[in-house]
Amino acid sequence: MRIHVLPSGPIETNAYLLTDARRGEAVLIDAPHDVWASVEPILEAEGCRLIALLITHGHWDHIGDAARVQAAGVPVYAHAADRPLIETPETMAMFLLPGYEVAPTRIDHFVEQGQALELLGKTFEVRHVPGHCPGNVLFYLAPEATAFVGDALFAGSVGRTDLPGGDFNELARSIRTQIYTLPPDTKVLPGHGPATDVYTEMRSNPFVPA
Ligand SMILES: [Zn+2]
Repeated sequence: MRIHVLPSGPIETNAYLLTDARRGEAVLIDAPHDVWASVEPILEAEGCRLIALLITHGHWDHIGDAARVQAAGVPVYAHAADRPLIETPETMAMFLLPGYEVAPTRIDHFVEQGQALELLGKTFEVRHVPGHCPGNVLFYLAPEATAFVGDALFAGSVGRTDLPGGDFNELARSIRTQIYTLPPDTKVLPGHGPATDVYTEMRSNPFVPA
């Protein structure tokens, strides 16, 4: 399996495209504006069909291309707590950058705490990590020792909690109970900026010490 990091959209939101050329399948994690233009050539080059779009959370910068991906016939997975953001994005229109729009996307499969998604012949464990927003989830791939955490935790930082539905104490609790409990060598792939790992953040994250 390969993990392509595809920063896209006006605030460099990381999408992650997981491809398995042997199976001829791929999974996309988050769909910022303009990511589809990067995804399609990779799918073609590696002979892969996109079988799922996993959304870490419903903020506009993570779902700008979600409707386009769905229109290509790809089922969309997300947590019910972010359903309003994803299905009626006009509710967050005031937070959009000028010139950007978000089309509504229908959630095909709701994910929840503790769920095991079987995709690409692997198990993606779902952990609910609210605080940055109500429906933020992470997707943990144990065999790859990798967690895709959305905007819950960044290298040396954490997600902002001043947007509607944000709550710092809840975020700190999510990080401590759902991320710092992963094996310390787990790679943390966040929604913005560089990768980090659980051990490094437990030891040195200035916002949420272990
Ligand atoms: Zn966000």
